[in-house]
Amino acid sequence: MNQFQYVRATKAQAAIDVVAKDPNAKFIAGGTNLVDLMKRGVVTPQKLVDINRLPLAKIETTGTGLRLGALALNSTVANDAQVRAQHPLLALALNAGASPQLRNMATVGGNMLQRTRCTYFYDLTMPCNKRQPGSGCGALEGINRMHAIFGASSTCIAVHPSDMSVALVALDATVLVSGPKGDRRIPFGDFHRLPGDTPEKDTNLEAGELITAVELPASPFTKHVHYQKVRERASYAFALVSAAAALDIDGNNTIKAARLALGGVAHKPWRLTAAEQVLVGKPATEESFRQAATVAMQGAKAFKHNEYKLRLAPNTLVQALKTAAAA
Ligand SMILES: Cc1cc2nc3c(=O)[nH]c(=O)nc-3n(C[C@H](O)[C@H](O)[C@H](O)COP(=O)(O)OP(=O)(O)OC[C@H]3O[C@@H](n4cnc5c(N)ncnc54)[C@H](O)[C@@H]3O)c2cc1C
Repeated sequence: MNQFQYVRATKAQAAIDVVAKDPNAKFIAGGTNLVDLMKRGVVTPQKLVDINRLPLAKIETTGTGLRLGALALNSTVANDAQVRAQHPLLALALNAGASPQLRNMATVGGNMLQRTRCTYFYDLTMPCNKRQPGSGCGALEGINRMHAIFGASSTCIAVHPSDMSVALVALDATVLVSGPKGDRRIPFGDFHRLPGDTPEKDTNLEAGELITAVELPASPFTKHVHYQKVRERASYAFALVSAAAALDIDGNNTIKAARLALGGVAHKPWRLTAAEQVLVGKPATEESFRQAATVAMQGAKAFKHNEYKLRLAPNTLVQALKTAAAA
């Protein structure tokens, strides 16, 4: 591991100032992703600003919903009574990720900013435009069975690995950030980005911006929800494909509203607004769910080894919807 300086921040503004001024400085929260990347030499910050003492770990109600502090632990959020009652989809997605030990260290902000698990990103002997811009994409003509079927570019076909973020994009969350230019709010769907020709940028955060919280609006999706994750092992594995489904169903089994997103399919958590619209006013039946899944897959494109995702993704979505409807 390269040598680095470590500082512990007690004031958010001081932490922001350090990271904004020094392109080689990084915030560290739980460290479960950043330290791995440093040990492998994938990222080599010269300064770490430890933000764990900042007062950003609260989960609190607001006038419009629930606010999760950026330092709230994944396990704390998943077990929180308000989260489980108001946003059970989020608790399900969190508990599908990593392991209990990791969830006890991982934070809300760190989870959103975890880097891709593309093996070419981790392998320093291979080209990777995300790790080293301009070096090429090893996955494009390489082993690409884990890779994107939506929104990829000729420079990067990696996927975002966070489970939590799939639920947050479906639930219309908002990210609160503080930076050198002040505070701003970013709709969750605009937080992560597609690779385009700058795949080294995972998000629309600017230099030095600190995530302070994530807000969830009050939601009718308290009952009929499911997070379906398909992976190669029953636990401790990233999604091949995952689907978040939330339905508001009336007494006649008619869908009043739907929220849907896929994980493991794109460089960002993949919201399915067109498929949601298909469901509104329809009966909560497998036939309706299949119609929505067909619309969800429009524009999907496979690479040499991930054609199976073109079938797995719609099937996972239908399964998530069936389980949500039955809940
Ligand atoms: C073996 C293993 C299996 C895993 N399986 C899964 C899985 O199945 N599903 C899943 O979703 N995840 C999985 N993970 C990933 C895990 O969820 C992440 O490592 C964790 O969420 C990162 O959170 P952290 O607080 O440790 O972030 P850190 O490692 O501390 O930071 C990650 C990044 O976020 C930045 N950062 C952190 N907090 C802030 C903030 N408030 N503002 C601005 N920048 C910030 C840091 O600078 C760094 O770049 C797995 C990890 C491991 C090691």
